[in-house]
Amino acid sequence: MELVWLTAVALLAMAAILWLLRRLFTRSSSGEPRPGRMTPELDLSSRGSTAEFKAVQSEQSGNLLQKYGISITVTADPEVKGTSTEEAVDLGDLQLTPEGGWILDPKSTFPLTLFGATKEVVLDLKVLLDESCVRSWHDLLPKISGFLSQANLRCREIETYIQTQKDIYFQKIKELKESSPEWQNSLENDRLDLLDEFRRVAIEHLRVRPQANLKVLFEGQPRDMTIDDKLIGKYGYDVIVFFLRHVSDRGKVYVIPADHYERRNWEKLTELGLANRGDNIQLISILSALTLREMTELVNDLQVPTFHRKAKAVEFLSTVPDIEQRVQRKLAYRQLFQVKALPAEFADVDLGSIQQALAYSDEVAQLLQHTYVMGYFAAKHRLRYSEMGGLLSSWRILASVGACPFCIEQSKLAFAADKPPVVPLHIGCRCQVSPNLEGFAS
Ligand SMILES: [Zn+2]
Repeated sequence: MELVWLTAVALLAMAAILWLLRRLFTRSSSGEPRPGRMTPELDLSSRGSTAEFKAVQSEQSGNLLQKYGISITVTADPEVKGTSTEEAVDLGDLQLTPEGGWILDPKSTFPLTLFGATKEVVLDLKVLLDESCVRSWHDLLPKISGFLSQANLRCREIETYIQTQKDIYFQKIKELKESSPEWQNSLENDRLDLLDEFRRVAIEHLRVRPQANLKVLFEGQPRDMTIDDKLIGKYGYDVIVFFLRHVSDRGKVYVIPADHYERRNWEKLTELGLANRGDNIQLISILSALTLREMTELVNDLQVPTFHRKAKAVEFLSTVPDIEQRVQRKLAYRQLFQVKALPAEFADVDLGSIQQALAYSDEVAQLLQHTYVMGYFAAKHRLRYSEMGGLLSSWRILASVGACPFCIEQSKLAFAADKPPVVPLHIGCRCQVSPNLEGFAS
């Protein structure tokens, strides 16, 4: 009889544990980064927005977003599996620090502090970051990058990381140069190639490494954060990013059909006077954009020499009296676009420095967004695990794919049940915490 009772109790206990496990891991599949998954953005992209408090916040702020042409809609999609308002975690209201900074997310496991802006501006950024927690990271990143490069915000945790690690990085590169006979004996081009190798070694030498382009972060910090303000202020962030992407090929003519995904960008560039379209493009540039075959087809009713070189072919075609009409019959002129130079008021603008400044704010934006979102998920997991009470025996850290040496060391440790580790372990860390269950290997 006793055996029957014992078996029944054991079965009940098992059922309870299985129910708890099922609850945990069913919720895990609702779109959060799962243990072993390195690309939470893939998971996150399927989520609908849930947070009611964010909707309220959106109404209060948004003036700056509007000013920069950044639109943001907080939407709830009841169709998306596993989302409900009760699941959203509030990371807390902005908190002023004694030094005049703003803590963005006081209830996160990794609070981030911003300097250089008013409460309203920081609040607008928080709207974008909160949205990133419940929507695709990728969709919101350009908006955050654009915001940062206009608002000239600084993040204390990111700058502290850069300041402390940059010295180690440059010291390592210096050592590598000094100990390399090849470096001493090379000319400039080979030295540039060697320097890239040294950079890679110096980055691998760092114990704590966020998932980011560290070369840009260590070497690309603009001396003047306002360098791009005038240009972005006049044309807008998206336009300038698109313009810079094509400006090095200024003479090139692009054929962009109406259904091309970049057509709207080219039209916008033309409207703002940063690109030529159709008739405004010099005929010689249009001819140069054609292939040798296309050039031959233009004049195949005439006695023409066989074209072997583009320059020669363009030279010949330019002498054909009705060449313009022939080209117009072959090409839709409204599909032709060409980047123009900046107007005279920006003649002294160094586009290389602007490109560098934008690349830097892009990396900072990514780090800020990733750390904010990982802090959100860690805070959410902490709440969830608190339901498990005495079932936990210990904790461990699940290192993300490509984790840095510091995180890998930490992932080999066991943490006591009452002392869970806190992730992210550093800025840009994507590691997660996992419980070891009593009697189970989790
Ligand atoms: Zn990590």
